Amino acid sequence: MKFYSLNNQNIQASFKEAVIAGIAPDKGLYFPESITPLSADFFENIEKLSNHEIAFQAIHQFVSEDIADNALKEIIANTLDFDFPVVEIKENVATLELFHGPTMAFKDVGARFMANCLGYFSQGEKQDVTVLVATSGDTGGAVANGFLGVDGVKVVILYPSGKVSEIQEKQLTTLGQNIEAMEVNGVFDDCQRMVKTAFLDTEITDHKKLTSANSINVARWLPQLFYFLFAYKQAKSKGKKIVFSVPSGNFGNICAGMVAQKLGMPVKHFVASTNVNDVVPKFMRNGLYEPMSSIATISNAMDVGDPSNFVRIRHLYKDDLKTLLQHLSSYSFSDESTRTTMKEVHSKTGYVLDPHGAVGYLGLKEYQKSHSDTYGIFLETAHPVKFLDVVEQTLGVSPEIPPQIMKVMDKEKKSHIISSYQELKQYLITD
Ligand SMILES: *Cc1c(COP(=O)(O)O)cnc(C)c1O
Repeated sequence: MKFYSLNNQNIQASFKEAVIAGIAPDKGLYFPESITPLSADFFENIEKLSNHEIAFQAIHQFVSEDIADNALKEIIANTLDFDFPVVEIKENVATLELFHGPTMAFKDVGARFMANCLGYFSQGEKQDVTVLVATSGDTGGAVANGFLGVDGVKVVILYPSGKVSEIQEKQLTTLGQNIEAMEVNGVFDDCQRMVKTAFLDTEITDHKKLTSANSINVARWLPQLFYFLFAYKQAKSKGKKIVFSVPSGNFGNICAGMVAQKLGMPVKHFVASTNVNDVVPKFMRNGLYEPMSSIATISNAMDVGDPSNFVRIRHLYKDDLKTLLQHLSSYSFSDESTRTTMKEVHSKTGYVLDPHGAVGYLGLKEYQKSHSDTYGIFLETAHPVKFLDVVEQTLGVSPEIPPQIMKVMDKEKKSHIISSYQELKQYLITD
């Protein structure tokens, strides 16, 4: 299977090349040249398959030219060693909990899968690969954890000083080994800009193999389709049409879900739920894509003003808005309604939503107003403890801190403080 650049389909790469480069030479995102549906039998008997078997069959066509079957099985086993439960919180409304991994956000699956692929590809290579990644919080921890101890791979994470939660900072600054944290005096956009500049800087790239671990990388983006299949496996017996509501920022997660639908998974509809960063909801109303600077909200992992994966969704539907509208709706919600929903769901059902999950819940309710015959699943993308301040303020309860989080809280933070691109460059060149 080849992957082509969305800017120019003549620019093609193998899975391995696409993973190592991150982005195409013309700066386009890579996209699989074809998506062949799985057999009807696969979906009819999905409840008899283990999660590992489901993942193997779903991803095989995309990677099989570059990863031997046995190695793929091992990569999947290393990636998926925790649960993805669908928890019903009321009639026809359930949540798919994606926070049972090591860093308690859904990014663990993509980060681990990519780390394992890069580890596999760098076997026998002389030159190390350096993964450079900017984070506003969750990505850094998941990437650090996924890549820890992977031979031949070094990870440099840039995060904005004072702008990530204490838990998030500990998750990315305390691991050591092949993980380095750069604490940037600035905001997330500054981190992102430095990373993009480094990729274009031949004084660095002539000497170093740099790649990105953001969701533009196909090895981080595609495996996210697994958990839509795991959810389908659990909800199928309800016998109803399924709708997924996905709290969205860069739109990688929801786009992977839409690939699962192209693989033949029966789904009635997708809802992309956003906070006030509403570029996509606006596009779905008027067909105009107008990026903006991001606005800070309580669901900060979704504070994205120019969602990088939305081009992949447009491409999936040949850029035909009318067809896209039949498969996707998108709604935006304020912090105020997010908090009200967290309170309401907690008092009525006892379930503690994190702010991202609450946005997902709101989008689902909006859709179900006019489609009450559906079974709705919203994604809980992070454990409420990762957004402790908001949850405590809003609900007046303190969720118990799980052991994998406790473990890092006592460890010592180690970071390089930098204020300019030059300092990053110096580090990358001399290191
Ligand atoms: C990254 C993230 C999102 C957004 O996912 P995208 O794939 O970027 O749309 C939502 N919630 C949480 C908790 C996240 O960490």
